[in-house]
Parts: sequence; C-alpha cells; structure tokens
Amino acid sequence: MKVVLFDIDGTLVNAGGAGARALNQVVREMTGHPEACKSCQLQGGTDKANFENAFAAGAGRKPTKKEMSELTRRYVSRLPSEVRASVKSGKYFKVKGVENFLARLSAGKGVLLGLGTGNLKEGAFIKLEPSGLMKHFAFGGYGCDSHRRCVMLRIAVARAAKTAKAEIKPGEVFVIGDTHRDVEAAKEAGYHSAAVLDGFGDERLILRSGPELMAKDFSDLKPWFIWLGLKKDPRGVQRGTYICPDSPIEHAHYGRTGLDLRDIEDGIRRFRELKKRTAGR
Ligand SMILES: [Mg+2]
Repeated sequence: MKVVLFDIDGTLVNAGGAGARALNQVVREMTGHPEACKSCQLQGGTDKANFENAFAAGAGRKPTKKEMSELTRRYVSRLPSEVRASVKSGKYFKVKGVENFLARLSAGKGVLLGLGTGNLKEGAFIKLEPSGLMKHFAFGGYGCDSHRRCVMLRIAVARAAKTAKAEIKPGEVFVIGDTHRDVEAAKEAGYHSAAVLDGFGDERLILRSGPELMAKDFSDLKPWFIWLGLKKDPRGVQRGTYICPDSPIEHAHYGRTGLDLRDIEDGIRRFRELKKRTAGR
C-alpha cells in the first residue's frame, strides 16, 4: 500500500489569492487593518497559524479563542465568493499535468490518494471545488487538525490506515508540496518528500530542505512514477532534472547533505587524474 498526500495551494491548484483576500477582508472587519496578510508569510503555513499571525498584525495582539472562532467562521463564509472571483477573472488554475497524474494514480492499484494541507477542511473543499479534483481524495489531514504540518500529515496517514484497514509504514507515505515547509514536515514525520517548483515556494529554500524529487510541475510524469516506485528507470539514476537515489545509502546521504554521491565520486576521480598528470611532469 502506498499513500500519496497532496498539498493544495500551489501543488494541486492556484486559487488566485482567494484565501489571502478572504483573510484580509475578515481581519479588516475585525481589527481595521486594511491588508494584514501583507506583513505575514502565509505560504506553507497552516490556516490557523496564518489566522493568528494576520490577526496579530492587525490588532497588535494574539486573538482570543472567541475571536479565533469568529475569524474562522467569517473566513469560511467569505472564501467561496473570493474563489468564484478568481475563477471569473481567470486567475484560478490547476497545476500543469496534475489532473492526468491524479487520474492515473487513481486508476492504479495499491495507491491511496489523500490531502495533506494547511487549509481548514472546509476551506480545502471550497478551494478545490472548481477544479473537480476532489473526487480523487478519500481522506486528508487539514489545518484544523493541527497547527503543525508534520502532525497534520501523521493524522492524514492514520485516516488512510483506517480507510484501507491496513497498517501503513512511514516508508510507504509520499508527500507532495510546493514549499520547503511541506518537505520539512514530511521529513519530520519520516515520510518521502517531493516538491513542485511552479507553486508558491522559494526555490532555494526548497533545494536546501532536500526533497527526494523536485520537478517544475506534473507535465512529465516519468520522474514522479519512478519516485513513487511505480516505474523503473532503465538508466538508473538520472540527475539534473530530478534526483532518484537508487540505494538507501545514497538516499540518506542526499537527504542530509543535498549532494549526490556520484558527483563527489566524479570530482575525486577528476582530481586524482589531474594529480597524476601534474606529478608526471
Ligand atoms: Mg502549498
């Protein structure tokens, strides 16, 4: 059994800033601050943490429990119209190739698809609704489950185990996101991690977080299937466009250092040749 968990914003869809607009509007209503989201880093954060930060940016203090539930209620009722506005203005779109990827994974055996998102459950459904992708996901972990992404991912996996009525080992879980926070949370939980570069993440931070696979989007599915272990790469490790270490040692080394062992070996070989040539002179 393999479990693949997808982040939503920047990984499945781009909702054209609907979430930030809804949050800005609500914080404006509650604190008077016109654009609280501008001073917060929302990408890769969970909704609840983002709500707290945006409120604090507006009010100069943390929200009370009552204010948080009020903010949440208003956000969820505001979000659908903002998502509709994004769709209408052509700013809502699916990440390239994701529809085909999900359809092929859904058609295959032994793969369970779930959501692993910082969005509140209701927010996740609202954001995904226009995409028609919701049908692929039987379960998920959401921002309402935990402030911390890695806990949210673990909860998603527990739900997957319940759905499948099977035990799921950490090595069978594959997390796909678009920011370094997705990668770090996956690693913290002991899961595999991959990142799309065409989302909201910072490419350098993603690279530094060391995902096992990086790809622009899902337009070329081959590396994704190889990473998931659903397809073999006849050429072994192909580097440059994606990293798919072929042994546990390489895997662990890359995870820790971000360096491909073969690059180091090549470097040492070249160095030795050069030394030999120079010594011969
Ligand atoms: Mg994201």
